[in-house]
Amino acid sequence: MKCSVCGGDLTQFGSKTIRNGMVCRYCAKKASPWLSDDDYKTRDTKDIIRHLKYREDNQKMVDAFITEKIIEGKYSLYLNKDKGEFVISKRKDYKKDNADVFRYKDIKGISILKQKDETGNFNLLVDFELKNREIPEACFRVNEFPGIEEGSKEYEDTLAKAYEYLNGFDEEDGFYFVEV
Ligand SMILES: [Zn+2]
Repeated sequence: MKCSVCGGDLTQFGSKTIRNGMVCRYCAKKASPWLSDDDYKTRDTKDIIRHLKYREDNQKMVDAFITEKIIEGKYSLYLNKDKGEFVISKRKDYKKDNADVFRYKDIKGISILKQKDETGNFNLLVDFELKNREIPEACFRVNEFPGIEEGSKEYEDTLAKAYEYLNGFDEEDGFYFVEV
């Protein structure tokens, strides 16, 4: 079997299963890091080709992006409200992080989610639901290390950080849903 997009060889690691075949690690690297394995499974070859075209256009937006405000954390939000664009990245140099530029007008909702893990501890997530066919969701963990104890100082600090991310946006940017 070959890559459905470029026809190249598939490797054991990094290849992705799509609805009608496989995508090689090199093509997958060009795709958005926000795509989950499930996202790949719902897409076919033409969807991935369209997505990679989108990513080329995105790269131009990344290059042109100017940060007005940063909300720092495990993930940092780089905001430019005037242009209506923002970036979520783990790295200070988001231009090297294969980042996506999102649009304020594409925000459907921003949520803080509380997720219980198998040990009974929690992860707090911030979830952006987007009106963006290529990247319908961008969700990230706020706590540095997985599994924090409810009611602990770390939990309270993490929750405060999650709200700080949320408060980077105004009500009019999208509706909020807080599950915690
Ligand atoms: Zn490929």
